[in-house]
Amino acid sequence: MASWELDKENFLSMSFGEKRKLYKSSKYVELKDIPTWKQYADKHKLVEPIPINAQYKINPSLNQALVSKVSMFVGDITTLEVDVITNAANSSLLGGGGVDGAIHRAAGPALKLECQSLHGCETGNAKITGGYKLPAKYVIHTVGPQGEKPNLLSNCYRNSLGIMKEFGFKTIAFPCISTGIYGYPLIPAAHIAAFEVRNHLEKFLDVVERVIFCLFSEEDEKVYQGILQTYFPLH
Ligand code: ADP
Repeated sequence: MASWELDKENFLSMSFGEKRKLYKSSKYVELKDIPTWKQYADKHKLVEPIPINAQYKINPSLNQALVSKVSMFVGDITTLEVDVITNAANSSLLGGGGVDGAIHRAAGPALKLECQSLHGCETGNAKITGGYKLPAKYVIHTVGPQGEKPNLLSNCYRNSLGIMKEFGFKTIAFPCISTGIYGYPLIPAAHIAAFEVRNHLEKFLDVVERVIFCLFSEEDEKVYQGILQTYFPLH
């Protein structure tokens, strides 16, 4: 058995309460402290909605049910105490800058050892590891496209949500995949993220507790305010 395998089992056998003492950072955010999109919208003056892209259609009958299944959280994804966080990784899976670097630092070195055993990941695909010292139990590593390639970015969200379903996870958080170093423009990327999440929730509403869009800047927050009003209408 490799050394990371023991570590992984150890961490996964702990409850959130037991693991809290081992988190690298003393800051962690529990699900109960993350407002739903509906609660967020009630407390903020929102920007104007961003109109839906013609190719994306939504089923209006589910609008009410969905506003409490999604959240916008502004801050560091490595603090979220959820079943799984998604990492915007590169194809080597051996760590990089941005959110990837932050996740590896917070999880500790065993995460990289497990990643090494996965032998990389193709763009649009996703692979799962343990979360080690992160508040999240697991990490899904997905490799976003460099530049605007809608099908590949859709695949990242779809494959990550597929793993969520397969493992029976109830809570997941996504960073804005590809919109940092990989240069995907934020608004088209947010259309894809919201559409794919909505599509997944329309199919698996009962088994998902919360999908969190984790945003890292005020600009991201404004864009998601505009996009979520369109894909997750409040009225
Ligand atoms: P990519 O190479 O896929 O573009 P980046 O890590 O450069 O990945 O950026 C993806 C997004 O993650 C950007 O919006 C960036 O601001 C954001 N980000 C960076 N660090 C964190 C963090 N600790 N928590 C959440 N989001 C983060």
